[in-house]
Amino acid sequence: MYLELKNLSKHFGDVKAVNNVSLGIGKNEFVCILGPSGCGKTTLLRLIAGLEEATTGELFLNDKNLVNVPAQNRGFGIVFQSYSLFPNMTVTQNIGYGLTIRKKPKDQIEKRVLELLNLVHLEGQDEKFPHELSGGQQQRVAIARALAVEPELLLLDEPLSALDAKVRKTLRVEIREVQQSLGIPTVMVTHDQDEAMTMADRIICMRDGIVEQMGTPDELYNQPTNAFIAGFLGHMNILDSFKKLHVDVDTNESNSIGIRPEEVVITDNNLKERNTYIGKVRHIENLGSVSLMQIFAEEQTILVEQTGFIKRVIGEEIFVTFPADKIVSFSKSIIGADV
Ligand code: ATP
Repeated sequence: MYLELKNLSKHFGDVKAVNNVSLGIGKNEFVCILGPSGCGKTTLLRLIAGLEEATTGELFLNDKNLVNVPAQNRGFGIVFQSYSLFPNMTVTQNIGYGLTIRKKPKDQIEKRVLELLNLVHLEGQDEKFPHELSGGQQQRVAIARALAVEPELLLLDEPLSALDAKVRKTLRVEIREVQQSLGIPTVMVTHDQDEAMTMADRIICMRDGIVEQMGTPDELYNQPTNAFIAGFLGHMNILDSFKKLHVDVDTNESNSIGIRPEEVVITDNNLKERNTYIGKVRHIENLGSVSLMQIFAEEQTILVEQTGFIKRVIGEEIFVTFPADKIVSFSKSIIGADV
């Protein structure tokens, strides 16, 4: 692995902000650290950056121990949530800053800045000052500035969270494209599941300083290891109280079974079909391209997602089927917590 964390911990008094984290990140990987507020995402990123000193544990880049290497000597590019550009410098000067202080030749700096302006779609904005740019443009400058020095690792701390939804979506795609075209290993902190699902090769999902699961978005969504992951990434209908269910997965006392809303099938009056239950429509949300329906069955509410509009009536009788091969099993217990 290119970046390797070994039993890394950071305590602030009694708070174990990062608690014994061990993981590896590959050379061209885009990894997102995801989790609820206070779970230790930023602290983990700051430990990697060298902005925070580990209480215990080690980290290695290309087998080189980084523990005693100060942040400015690690050769990483960092982009924070607030744009933190130099307000009295133009876009060109901001992007070229790292190269200027490294005393690179002027023509080399100009060439590199131009390349980066194209890469982050800021052609023609080069002589503007930060206050003359939109939030999205400022964050593009911050990313170009971080990339200018060809960092060994790019670290992004919630870089999109201050932007409005539409700009965020555009920048998601752009950042991913830039990362892939340069093949630069990237670690990004986010609390936005959509961002992590759409941008990351792998997601590190944290809770209370601990990594609950690390894997591809597909693995986390379709094979959640425990109830926290199952409920944190999208919605999971828990089916533990449904009697006589046929399932393809192994189950036991310490596991729950569940099904995603988009896998529940609405059937017509056919209780003979396997895993079919009668219920009542409780609530409908037609969102346009997809719609959500809450169905009350077996004393619990099941969420169903369908494409297009749902033309049903509240209180209507309805039949739901849980296809056996779509039912997943995951641990009831969450690492470090009782549920
Ligand atoms: P958010 O999404 O809200 O930014 P986060 O997942 O990034 O949260 P951290 O900022 O890493 O979480 O904080 C993890 C825990 O460590 C929290 O309980 C926080 O209060 C605590 N913490 C972080 N920095 C410090 C500090 N400098 N001094 C004391 N406690 C801290």
